[in-house]
Amino acid sequence: PQGATVAKFAEILGVQPNDVIKRLFMLGQVLTLTQSMGDELVELIADDMGRKVRVVSPEEEYAVVYHDRDEDLKPRPPVVTVMGHVDHGKTSLLDAIRDTGVAAGEAGGITQHIGASVVNIDGRKITFIDTPGHEAFTAMRARGAQVTDVIVLVVAADDGVMPQTVEAINHAKAANVPIVVAVNKIDKPGANPDRVRQELTEYEVIPEEWGGKNMFVEVSAKQKLHIDDLLETILLQADVLELKANPDAEASGFVIEANLDKGRGPVATVLVHRGTLHPGDVVVAGASYGRVRALIDPRGKHVDEALPADPVEILGLNSVPTAGDEFRVFEDERDARKLAEERALRARLAEQETKSHVSLDDLFSRI
Ligand code: GDP
Ligand code: MG
Repeated sequence: PQGATVAKFAEILGVQPNDVIKRLFMLGQVLTLTQSMGDELVELIADDMGRKVRVVSPEEEYAVVYHDRDEDLKPRPPVVTVMGHVDHGKTSLLDAIRDTGVAAGEAGGITQHIGASVVNIDGRKITFIDTPGHEAFTAMRARGAQVTDVIVLVVAADDGVMPQTVEAINHAKAANVPIVVAVNKIDKPGANPDRVRQELTEYEVIPEEWGGKNMFVEVSAKQKLHIDDLLETILLQADVLELKANPDAEASGFVIEANLDKGRGPVATVLVHRGTLHPGDVVVAGASYGRVRALIDPRGKHVDEALPADPVEILGLNSVPTAGDEFRVFEDERDARKLAEERALRARLAEQETKSHVSLDDLFSRI
């Protein structure tokens, strides 16, 4: 690739172009706004500004990767995704987990469903993301994002390993995410947890007690058996990972769900990856941008901040972003708008191109 112009580069990073020009000058490079920096300079200057960039598309688009100093990293909660074959009990398990994490009296207060939830266990948080379409995960992975720290693989003890079980294992392996196995439905008469263990060895998911590295917990989502054990096991797995993030930075992360709400306009549920998000922040999320009008937590409460690993709804975007899109806080609203509008334009052009290809294919198939 040719690299980005100085203006483009500043826009992508959300920084002042003059600052970029100054830094270039210090490196002995005299460049104007419209001149191209080349990939090496892009990397060098980004690094100078405490960021890393990676080319993600041929259209001069760069993904910004931040690197933090060790002393700025603080422990953060794990982000967990529940996966497994249809009807093995993913939804039931998430429901049981939510009930467990809610103090008595608070139950019933969770009417809202935002595709993610936060559970508190003895003062420690776990964030659960409802299994979104695999495309969202694939999109995030393509951007080099590790959104999930732990995958809870639900396998029904009366049914065993099925096609989507294998799919989930493959997904976890591709993303290099540890698997905690929840052997579910142990209350059922036909339940055979040991058969599940046996079947999973074929896919190199092997219980610790058999010399493998996967933690297994036998549960019943329906009867709420051993849900506490499962949560503690997830925390144990998280401890091994030593998860950390820098909370003292402008926020960035990923859109896990988005829709157009009749009353509230575009609503995006984002997962904060780094930094702290506040109302009033200017964000770009994919091809959308806006000033955050309100932040709403999974229980429907307005909050003043969202920390790393927090899922939160954002109000105030100008359009609906796509699940899997990156979001990032910008210093300058104009830069944010420019980047978002350009992405929107590019998406429209790509769509038109796809449409014309389709009609062309159509034409040929009729000949
Ligand atoms: P999902 O498709 O993986 O989300 O599965 P669901 O949570 O919708 O559960 C599928 C069916 O299995 C429902 O009828 C649940 O009531 C039932 N189910 C889920 N967990 C258990 C369990 O632990 N024991 C029993 N007996 N049934 C369960
Ligand atoms: Mg379900």
